[in-house]
Amino acid sequence: KGKRAFIAGVADDNGYGWAIAKSLAAAGAEILVGTWVPALNIFESSLRRGKFDESRVLPDGSLMEITKVYPLDAVFDNPEDVPEDIKTNKRYAGSSNWTVQEAAECVKQDFGSIDILVHSLANGPEVTKPLLETSRKGYLAAISASSYSYVSLLKHFIPIMNPGMLSLQLMTEILNLQYITHRYGGGMSSAKAALESDTRVLAFEAGRKHKIRVNTISAGPLRSRAAKAIGFIDMMIDYSLANAPLQKELSADEVGNTAAFLASPLASAITGAVIYVDNGLNAMGVGV
Ligand code: NAD
Repeated sequence: KGKRAFIAGVADDNGYGWAIAKSLAAAGAEILVGTWVPALNIFESSLRRGKFDESRVLPDGSLMEITKVYPLDAVFDNPEDVPEDIKTNKRYAGSSNWTVQEAAECVKQDFGSIDILVHSLANGPEVTKPLLETSRKGYLAAISASSYSYVSLLKHFIPIMNPGMLSLQLMTEILNLQYITHRYGGGMSSAKAALESDTRVLAFEAGRKHKIRVNTISAGPLRSRAAKAIGFIDMMIDYSLANAPLQKELSADEVGNTAAFLASPLASAITGAVIYVDNGLNAMGVGV
């Protein structure tokens, strides 16, 4: 029987979440996605209008099916957390059940269980500011949207995850990319460091308690919507081309395929790992 995956952080066909969905679909998984509420309408209407059809093509020629799109805002755990200005915001008012807890409940009602959980989302309102100039509010917002969102997703989805399954998140290299990542500001570098550490702690807790594996892919630079918004993604790609062991542009599919491997029984002894999918750039050290 095919596995069922819930992928949080898909709102177009350019990012890593979409590529992971495709690789999992190609391997036979049923795909559910969680889409940020403000991006939901445009994503769903683009899907319906066939705007993504070209990028839905799988290696066997068939089209990836997304069984259901769930609205999600991973910054809020339950309705009590949602402030009035968001509740009444036009972009949120048309959707319901989009806090993490409610989304997990809806998936449970609709499908009973999942086998694979993917966290492919991040947000940092002050990402273009150096850390020294970042406000407390901006820093905490980055950690909330990019790191705690993962803890929260796992916490709420783990009761409906089948044992032996995988939970996966994406992060950016931070350790060996100082040259570039000192510009990855606003607390985003901090958020990614938290994710790296949480991978190990969550792997222990989820492994012991639920027999679930927890791994992280540290991906190289990709021209996604989020990355373009930060503004120096081309420089990061050039830096990688100039310095990485493999001098080729990274494709999102290479990250998707790694996710499919990690989600498969082929990786049944891999947990608590941060896997670099970056043309080897991480191996080059700080002083390149
Ligand atoms: P992306 O724009 O495709 O994905 C980010 C998604 O997060 C978007 O769909 C956005 O709508 C969603 N999102 C933001 N705030 C949210 C919230 N509060 N609740 C729910 N969803 C929310 O861009 P991407 O680059 O593919 O990013 C996916 C992950 O990969 C992120 O964690 C990112 O940091 C990481 N990553 C990206 C790169 C890169 O160069 N693009 C490199 C390494 C890691």
